[in-house]
Amino acid sequence: MSNKSVTKFEALTMALAFTSSTSIAFSSSSSSRTEQGIHVSSTKFQPSDVSHLVSPAAFNLSRKRSAAVKALNAESRRNHSVVPSAATTFVPDVVEKGVEVEDFEKLAKDLENASPLEIMDKALEKYGNDIAIAFSGAEDVALIEYAHLTGRPYRVFSLDTGRLNPETYKFFDAVEKHYNIRIEYMFPDSVEVQALVRTKGLFSFYEDGHQECCRVRKVRPLRRALKGLRAWITGQRKDQSPGTRSEVPVVQVDPVFEGLDGGSGSLVKWNPVANVGGNDVWTFLRTMGVPVNSLHAQGFVSIGCEPCTRAVLPGQHEREGRWWWEDAKAKECGLHKGNIKEETVNGNGNGNNVNGNESGSDIFNGNDIVNLTRPGMENLLKMEDRKDAWIVVLYAPWCQFCQAMEASYVELGEELAGSGIKVGKFRADGDEKAFAQQELQLGSFPTILFFPKHSSRPIKYPSEKRDVDSLTAFVNALR
Ligand code: SF4
Repeated sequence: MSNKSVTKFEALTMALAFTSSTSIAFSSSSSSRTEQGIHVSSTKFQPSDVSHLVSPAAFNLSRKRSAAVKALNAESRRNHSVVPSAATTFVPDVVEKGVEVEDFEKLAKDLENASPLEIMDKALEKYGNDIAIAFSGAEDVALIEYAHLTGRPYRVFSLDTGRLNPETYKFFDAVEKHYNIRIEYMFPDSVEVQALVRTKGLFSFYEDGHQECCRVRKVRPLRRALKGLRAWITGQRKDQSPGTRSEVPVVQVDPVFEGLDGGSGSLVKWNPVANVGGNDVWTFLRTMGVPVNSLHAQGFVSIGCEPCTRAVLPGQHEREGRWWWEDAKAKECGLHKGNIKEETVNGNGNGNNVNGNESGSDIFNGNDIVNLTRPGMENLLKMEDRKDAWIVVLYAPWCQFCQAMEASYVELGEELAGSGIKVGKFRADGDEKAFAQQELQLGSFPTILFFPKHSSRPIKYPSEKRDVDSLTAFVNALR
């Protein structure tokens, strides 16, 4: 798309451009977005007069549908005296919908040529209050505009890492005011941030990679947020990263994170602008008069934390402005790690961290989890009769699937404390990998073993559901 100025009619045409069977009808003389009506005649996307659909009547209808579930964006202002805890922010008051079993690969194919607006509408229609837009504070504000245009209630959350640029905080405020919404901010755990900064300083990521800091400030808060949802919406585009985003589908079962119901497959990820080019997103934003982060005017394209983001020169790829001291093909902070090819990270390779950060910080650090060494594991394998049964995870701290089950496993440790079943972990990458493969049935990370009380032979956990309920059921079946 050229840089010539375009009308709102053209921008909305662009928003719908990928759908051959759509038609648009609204007054081209309208100067306000709330006066527009978008009519899509031959798809399931129905006419939506925006001002009508965001009205209290529309909201009430939504409330009836989902009982006491409250759409935060429909509130004019939140109660400033109440700061919801991160864990509760995303838990609806009432959960009454089940997740319908659906072939998301087929749905992604069906929607491959759909417009971002149509994809957004489909996502919001299907998941209601159980879906939220992940807003980074950059041009993914387009997602909020698309959601707004659907006329449906929608939720927006953002990760406040504590290291964002002042411009980004001002932009958040401008977006809240523009759309009359409240962004649901997620913050890192203060104890974890304290431990990291006191141990390694404020800029450890320049020396040993950004993974550890991102895990504390971004990935874990994100995981907490997603545990309260059934689906999320991201601004990932195929053209953003040459190594990791070139195959992003418009919708997929989230390959990394768990949703409300727990276990793999419990969360769906929507990427409505996967097939849209960066230039087209910008044309859309300009035309619709959407507020943008003022850092863009200073040469910033991809925007993240202040120490890890810099402006790029014309012609430079946008990801060159992020973590520029690291390998270009691995520039994912963990939020979209599923984009990295599985064989690279699941332990089938040589055990190297995808970012060359093999000595990254440890995981599974709960008080009730015993850190086992090689002799400890050899003892477990020898003992025919032991005082306690054991469940042990074989892991690598850099493995995304191990990281994804960390919270569940720590919780399992707490639940089983004093129950006669010990919970352990054994780091099985690097030098221990061959031993683990030969003696401990290690195929890929994580592998979970149960050592019964009266047998030396461990039983391998057969499922990929790694939520605490599934693990507890496994233990209870064998104890
Ligand atoms: Fe830390 Fe940089 Fe990651 Fe932000 S982007 S969480 S500052 S490593």
